[in-house]
Amino acid sequence: MSETKTAVDAGQSLLPTYARYPIALVKGEGSWLWDDQGNRYLDFMSGIAVTNLGHAPKRVKEALVKQLDELWHVSNLFRIPNQEEAAKLITDNSCGDAVFFGNSGAEANEAAIKLARRYQQLVQKNGRYEIITFEQSFHGRTLATLTATGQAKVKEGFAPLPEGFVTIPLNDLAALEATISDKTAAIMLEMVQAEGGIYPVDMDYIQAAKALCEKHGILLIVDEIQTGIGRTGKLFAYEHFGIEPDIFTLAKGLGSGFPVGAMVAKEKLREGFTAGSHGSTFGGTPIATAVVKATLETIVGDSLPARAAEQGEYLMTQLREKLQGNAFVRDVRGLGLLVGIECAEPIASILVEAQQKGLLVISAGPNVIRLLPNLLVTTEEIDSAVAILAELLESKRPN
Ligand SMILES: *Cc1c(COP(=O)(O)O)cnc(C)c1O
Repeated sequence: MSETKTAVDAGQSLLPTYARYPIALVKGEGSWLWDDQGNRYLDFMSGIAVTNLGHAPKRVKEALVKQLDELWHVSNLFRIPNQEEAAKLITDNSCGDAVFFGNSGAEANEAAIKLARRYQQLVQKNGRYEIITFEQSFHGRTLATLTATGQAKVKEGFAPLPEGFVTIPLNDLAALEATISDKTAAIMLEMVQAEGGIYPVDMDYIQAAKALCEKHGILLIVDEIQTGIGRTGKLFAYEHFGIEPDIFTLAKGLGSGFPVGAMVAKEKLREGFTAGSHGSTFGGTPIATAVVKATLETIVGDSLPARAAEQGEYLMTQLREKLQGNAFVRDVRGLGLLVGIECAEPIASILVEAQQKGLLVISAGPNVIRLLPNLLVTTEEIDSAVAILAELLESKRPN
């Protein structure tokens, strides 16, 4: 230890980028977590929409352990059979034709932004670079993706930000028409704004926006990082809206808790990238893509998107019924198992009260309680969570 340092708690060796709860979770199984004091929690946040198959899902664990015995890493300078098979599972089950693997959501969105620009500039040769994004959106924490994000708080102190991004209100077709120009390379959005407060995009709007994109040669990028992998009741949320993106991005649920992200593009975009135009040392390792394969085989093979649709309907119906007449609750909304309870006031303290009653939930913006159970959640588990929330919210009154 250097002489200028004094001894600190282990936790103080971390940068303070998170306001952490004083709970250390040490074991998980299905919908349940245990802390280091032996307390048990019903997990309705799934590590922020990551553990869509619950904690330590058997089939994925077996694939991971098998791969750990065989091979960990070789580099993308070689063919990686797991990566090719994982990509095929994605393209066979989506509108996409070609996949690039990275390690996180932000990297998947970076890849999407890069591919959109490179396709416009080198294939279409039109010099377009501008990406239109939307207020209250969330696209990640790298410099490009925080610039794309429509929330001032994530940009504070990071100037100068990259050029070529413009943010407009969502569901406002006139604003979109007024913003499109001969510089517009792509528009980028979530089908349900998740971090922004659980706001599904309007059906009419997204269909009109897609038509505008086609008319003007603009690419449509859909960020499915939180909404994808069955979460909303379809494998990918764009399927609800009768449109097909040119590019969509995945991460969170893609690896069941193992870090992996992917950018998926339509055929015409293939020539936007050539050997050497983009890359990632760890993107799509044999281990990561063994996990992706087992995750997708389970989600698709066991029809879990349909299950998420059913259980999501049940969860929202129960919440509406049990919270009916509660003046503190403004709205219950969502799509599949991406559900929000909008309240009249900030809910940070309610999250802590829920933890004390053994239920883990998170926020989506200051006033919305966000519920993200795993896709295998049982009706009994939903009933328990709703009972805890109804009891907690019972005593709240708007000021
Ligand atoms: C979480 C998230 C991201 C960022 O993903 P990271 O893996 O944290 O980089 C991007 N977009 C959406 C919609 C997200 O929910």
